[in-house]
Parts: sequence; C-alpha cells; structure tokens
Amino acid sequence: MPSSVRLPRHRGERLSVDEYVKGVLAGNRVVLAKAITLIESDLPADADLAIQLLDALLPHLGKSRRVGITGVPGVGKSTFIDALGTHLTRERGEQLAVLSVDPSSSLSRGSILGDKTRMERLAADDRSFIRPSPAAGHLGGVTRRTREAILLCEAAGYRNIFIETVGVGQSETAVHLVSDFFLLLILPGAGDELQGIKRGILELVDGIAVNKADGDNRGHAEHTRASYSSALHLFPSSPHGWVPRVVTCSALEGTGIPEIWQMVLDHEAHLEASGELAERRIRGSLQWMRDLVLNGLGEIFDSATGIAELMPKLELEVRCGRVSPLAASRKLLDTFKSGR
Ligand code: GDP
Repeated sequence: MPSSVRLPRHRGERLSVDEYVKGVLAGNRVVLAKAITLIESDLPADADLAIQLLDALLPHLGKSRRVGITGVPGVGKSTFIDALGTHLTRERGEQLAVLSVDPSSSLSRGSILGDKTRMERLAADDRSFIRPSPAAGHLGGVTRRTREAILLCEAAGYRNIFIETVGVGQSETAVHLVSDFFLLLILPGAGDELQGIKRGILELVDGIAVNKADGDNRGHAEHTRASYSSALHLFPSSPHGWVPRVVTCSALEGTGIPEIWQMVLDHEAHLEASGELAERRIRGSLQWMRDLVLNGLGEIFDSATGIAELMPKLELEVRCGRVSPLAASRKLLDTFKSGR
C-alpha cells in the first residue's frame, strides 16, 4: 500500500474526497469498504461527497466483468460463489469482489444473506473482497446503490465482480441491469413454482446452473437441465444471438465449476464481437438513471406535506372497498401538487 493512503482513525470518521480517491485507487480494502458505506448512506452531506467521489473515479471505470448470481435461499449460492470464486482467485490468479444485494434486510432488519460463515475460503483469500449484506439497522438504499458499489470495486482494481441476490424479490431485475452475465442457480427435480422462479427471470438469464448435481441427485439434475434447456429454446432468441446455456454443477464437490466460468468467458467474447457488451452497459446505465430519478421522486412524494397523514387513511378506504385505487391516487397526487 502506498504510504500516501490515509486510513480512517475511527469507525465514524469521514475522509476527504481526495483521500477516498487515493485509497480506492490503491486498492485499499478499508478505504473501499468505507467508500461503499458512504455511497449507501442516506445523509445529504454523504450524498454530495459520494457524487464527487464517483465523478473523480470515472476515468478508472468500466474495466470489470460483472456476473449477477441469483437463486432461492438454500440453492447453494454461497457455496457456489465460494467454489467459483476460489477457481478464479487460486487457479486463475484473478481478483474478485463479491457484493450481496439482500432485499430482505430493509424490510425485516434481518438478513437472508448476512451470516458470517458464508464463503469461508474466499473470506480468507487476499485476492477477494467480500462486501456482506448491510448490518441490521444500517440501511436505506442498498439495491438502489449497487451500481455505485460496483463502480468503486472496479476503480479499486477488481477485474471480476459477482453480484449476488436472493431470487425472491424485485432485486433480480436491478441486478440484471448491472450485470454483463446473469446466472440463475436452480435445484434438481423441483419445478419452477417450488423454486420461486418467475417466468420473467427466465427471460433475463444468460445461463442456468442446476446445482447439487451430486450423489443420488445426478439423474434428477440432468433431467432438470434438459427440461430447462428446451424451455429456454421457446423464448425468442436475443438480438445478438446468444442462446442461454443450462449446465449442471456441484458447488460442494467443485464439478462443473470451470465449465461455468468458461460459459461466462464465451458469452463475453460473443458480446464483445457483436458490440453488444458496450451497448448493454449503456442501456443499463440509462435505465439505472431513470430508476434513480423515480426513486428520488418517490422519496419527495412520501415526505411532501399532508401525504404521511393521508396515505394510511386512503389505504384503509381502498382496503375496505369504499374508495377505488384510481380515486385514491388522484387525491394523493392532488394533495402533493397543492402542497408544492
Ligand atoms: P444459499 O442460501 O443459496 O446461499 O445456499 P448455501 O450455499 O448456504 O447452501 C445451502 C445448503 O446446501 C448447505 O447445507 C450447503 O452445504 C448445501 N449445498 C450447497 N451446494 C451444494 C452442492 O453442490 N451439493 C450438495 N449436495 N449440497 C450443497
């Protein structure tokens, strides 16, 4: 680490923009972690600093390979990421950052992805940086700031970035927006309904891995692979001609893992050749911008005069069927407009 990187002296200390920039560019993990906390913060002073930081880092961005990984709890995401991640760091000598997007934590203040024992090998690996789900009580815009967290990891020199999410909420769509490759993990044997896989997700995936293809499950896994493979062929092929592949693997035994990485690389080569990679990122950035604006508008709306009092009353009326959602929304919007 260059001596010019200054570390925060205590947990709550903010650094200057210049100190953040230097620390992140030097790949310093402490500063990187703090910078991610900064961009996740909802404090207006932090938001200004975060924007300056991201602007200063702009020339150093765009050099990572971003892989989104989703699947229901228990499918084996952490075991899989540990296996694929160590394949990258140990066998290929590459740097990897893992970011978790946990839609549960903002609602329950608990966390599906938050426990510390996940990804044991990666956690002890110098070539990897793992950003666990935010601790309970410290939240706000995690999904909404994922893209910025990716950018910070890129600037810190992480060539590969995994973005993990639980396949139970809206977060998959957000993760898809920021991924170059979007991988769905599924279980052998069970149907879509049991696995909570919505049809919409299948339309977004670039690849599917049937995990736990080991022991007695091998036959089921192969069967599941074949049926998903034919299901995917029913979707219209993408404009750039990539047909999502379905493979089997065992994260526990490590089988199929190098092949999955090869699929990510093949996809990247395919997208680069057609110019689609840059295009996909631009589309993602524009969509992200719109989403942030809508998010911001939502916040302005929620905090506008009269809305906090009116909302629960109207919700009750709509719930009892006394007022239609259309009429209630009109009333809310009129109240919002008249308060401005
Ligand atoms: P997550 O909730 O999606 O992160 O899933 P975990 O990685 O925590 O795995 C859930 C359980 O499945 C754990 O008991 C793992 O040991 C087990 N598991 C994960 N991958 C495999 C696999 O490839 N084969 C088998 N047999 N079990 C696995």
